[in-house]
Amino acid sequence: MKIYISADIEGIAGIAHWDEADRDHASWEQFRDRMTEHVAAACEGAFAAGATEVWVKDAHGSGRNIDAAALPGNTRLIRGWSEHPLMMVQELDESFDAVGFVGYHSRAGSGGNPMAHTLSSSKIMQLRVDDEPVSEYHLYARAAGAVGVPSVFLSGDEGICETATAMNPAVTVVPSLHGVGESTVSRQPDVVRDEISSGMEAALRGDLSRCLLPVEGPHVLEVEFHKAGRAYRASHYPGASLIDDHTVRVAVERHIDVLRALVFIV
Ligand SMILES: [Zn+2]
Repeated sequence: MKIYISADIEGIAGIAHWDEADRDHASWEQFRDRMTEHVAAACEGAFAAGATEVWVKDAHGSGRNIDAAALPGNTRLIRGWSEHPLMMVQELDESFDAVGFVGYHSRAGSGGNPMAHTLSSSKIMQLRVDDEPVSEYHLYARAAGAVGVPSVFLSGDEGICETATAMNPAVTVVPSLHGVGESTVSRQPDVVRDEISSGMEAALRGDLSRCLLPVEGPHVLEVEFHKAGRAYRASHYPGASLIDDHTVRVAVERHIDVLRALVFIV
């Protein structure tokens, strides 16, 4: 069994501020270490369930947070960014049996986490696919669905756990924290870590096919930018048009084309 794990930091237990997610800040080191520890726990859960190989994408910021040496057994770590449209699930293909997401967070425009965003907090106000405001989980869990790989597990803030469950009640979720204004209320990190390990193991021992997300095109992507200038720039992507000063719309056939457009317009 070959498993893929995509990891972010803004849904890691205890985190409360962008400084703690920023490698140029001293407080990042604590959360980099905790992100590594919680991803390692997810890998251990996968191996306990019979995985023979686990690929991990470090999908936060620079893509250089997780310490490869702290991951167990037969893991591969993808660091940095290739700029492939699959971004946070780079290298995912039909050879994998399941995907898990660790440290994920609420979408742009949500009150569920003071660091809520979708792809870029500095550029994007809201990102919609087929009129639905979407999270990074939407984008990359559906990308997994498009290549036939089920999304079986998610750990992150309560908002993204609710989102994942609404998309598919069969997914196993482990909540870490919830936002209250600019603050967070977090569960004890070691308790969350242990639940990530046991949750990943239980998810992989279950019926994986129940977690395969359907992906049907065509799609309409809308990106509402903070700055009108970004929307104007994006409106020159082939097929794109401005629907107001801050928002660009692109109609595409397949989900991968949504992701391809995002690489160029964000
Ligand atoms: Zn992040």
